[in-house]
Amino acid sequence: LKSSTSTAPKVVEIPAENYDFAQMPEYRRLKQTMRILSSTGVPNPYFRPHERVTRDTAMIGGREMLSYATYNYLGMSGDPSVSQAAKEAIDQYGTSVSASRLVSGEKTIHRDLEKTIADFLGVEDSIVYVGGHSTNETTIGHLFKPGDLIAHDSLAHNSIIQGAILSGARRRAFPHSDWQALDELLSEIRHEYRRVLIVIEGVYSMDGDFPDLPRFIEVKRKHKAILMVDEAHSIGTMGQTGRGIAEHFGVKSSEVDLWMGTLSKSFGSCGGYIAGCKEVVEYLKYTAPGFVYSVGLTPSNAAAALASVRVIQREPERVHKVQHNSKLFLDLAKARGLNTGMSNNTPVVPVITGNSKVALLLSRALFERGINVQPILYPAVEEEKARLRFFITASHTDEQIRLTVDAVAEELARIEPSLVQGGSQLA
Ligand code: PMP
Repeated sequence: LKSSTSTAPKVVEIPAENYDFAQMPEYRRLKQTMRILSSTGVPNPYFRPHERVTRDTAMIGGREMLSYATYNYLGMSGDPSVSQAAKEAIDQYGTSVSASRLVSGEKTIHRDLEKTIADFLGVEDSIVYVGGHSTNETTIGHLFKPGDLIAHDSLAHNSIIQGAILSGARRRAFPHSDWQALDELLSEIRHEYRRVLIVIEGVYSMDGDFPDLPRFIEVKRKHKAILMVDEAHSIGTMGQTGRGIAEHFGVKSSEVDLWMGTLSKSFGSCGGYIAGCKEVVEYLKYTAPGFVYSVGLTPSNAAAALASVRVIQREPERVHKVQHNSKLFLDLAKARGLNTGMSNNTPVVPVITGNSKVALLLSRALFERGINVQPILYPAVEEEKARLRFFITASHTDEQIRLTVDAVAEELARIEPSLVQGGSQLA
């Protein structure tokens, strides 16, 4: 029986923005940004389809263009031997492993790849995941907990920050590459936490600079912390034989606790790895959510990465070529008075324009001259740090690089003369 005093359900007006995606403030903000973009009169530079493999050149809208917009650093994507290995893996294993590796998705090629990566890096073992971003997110998110501290560089990649948030640990950003500031921070607060993770990158993906690894190793030792280095952009591009930032500095790989890298750049594939001591790899293989509750790496991606590591071992000249090209680009750009920020002979070279509109106009002007390079605009970077970001590859020729730097300097001088500071002419 209903009591006569029972209250009728309260009718509360739920605003449309709480259930209609089109009304959500986040979406409206995105639309606002798009409107600002189109008000410049420059066609949208995002999601532009490329019609075939992109190496030194790209095919866009039926037109072959010089390309500096992908991180195919060693030309592995599109390399015939890498493609062949991927095709053979599909024939042998199929297009999917159709299960988590822990249950029945394990294929012989997975262990071949993991052993090869570990040997290449000079560490005990490695584990491969299906994505580079998810490698950071799930590994950091899983190994650390509330009561721990994650100290990461202020320019850390989104995947590192997402992992730190997921972990529930306290998160502190230290000033970019400033090992002394980190040392001071840890001297003050290390004792308040159980585990401390320090995360740095081998090459910073927006600026093309790299940290003083030996100093960070000293700091981690002093404070009994765990050091993780994200080598997304340094593996295959730094060191005499492409073994990354440890080889560049001549430090032993075992001095770093967690090496992270992606398979999507120098390794011409898709996925990520964590490499280090056998205990951490074993633990992750049985417990990391993004590994255990996710399908294993596809056979073709495993095979492409494996073939790429073997090509790097066979042909270290590719590594030398990307290093030569990066230095050439940077030297020429500096000589033309372009602002390349902190870039330091790595394959990431920004040309900082200081505002988003100039970056957009410059990228469009270059596009019209047959050069494809992506603008990086606010909010991806601060407005005064808006830039074009050039990815240099081993596939580029000296001639292409010269032509490009000349075009950048000419177009920038036309759009915003004050940004080209009377650099010396370098032949
Ligand atoms: N770490 C860094 C430093 C990166 O720049 C990226 C992506 N470019 C990733 C991780 C994620 O790698 P992926 O694109 O292979 O998922």
